Amino acid sequence: MRRSRVWAEPCLLSCAVKKLGGSVERWLGVAEDLFGEYLWGRCDIVFLPPSFPIVAMENPCLTFIIASILESSEFLLIDVIHEIAHGWFGNAVTNATWEEMWLSEGLATYAQRRITTEAYGEAFTCLETVVRLDALHRQLRLLGDSNPVSKLQVKFEPGKHTHTYVQGFDNESETPVILVWEVSWLNWTSLVASLH
Ligand SMILES: [Zn+2]
Repeated sequence: MRRSRVWAEPCLLSCAVKKLGGSVERWLGVAEDLFGEYLWGRCDIVFLPPSFPIVAMENPCLTFIIASILESSEFLLIDVIHEIAHGWFGNAVTNATWEEMWLSEGLATYAQRRITTEAYGEAFTCLETVVRLDALHRQLRLLGDSNPVSKLQVKFEPGKHTHTYVQGFDNESETPVILVWEVSWLNWTSLVASLH
């Protein structure tokens, strides 16, 4: 039985269906081979209008994703796989507090790259990693070394951060979520290295 449906406004639906084209089931299968059974049953994707404030949100059973991502087949693929990875890392197991969101994002990014390596090969994953790291370095240069979003654990200050997902996200400079991903990924890889 198919576990994934696509939801979108009528004007976007055929484009969304065509671009995903049954791939979600394939990506779920690859992820299950790597990480075990998918616990959430359904894995539907809903494309939301541009007012949706982030790129995507990994709600169990129904991932929210911004419709403008349909402009890029590559980013669509990477982001949907990233949200699928959260089905194991972030949803099945979760950090105890949002101050530790780097654990969820770091593990999900690790899992995402394992999935893309299996599905599209090492070269694809290496290129994606290099592009993201380059974006990270550019963002860090813009923000400066002492910006709180580059820290391993960002203090969650009541009243300052108004949305749980933006912990580690700088509201004033509107630092993209990509920065949270990559800082989390770097922190995660250095943690793994230190454990070895
Ligand atoms: Zn994520």
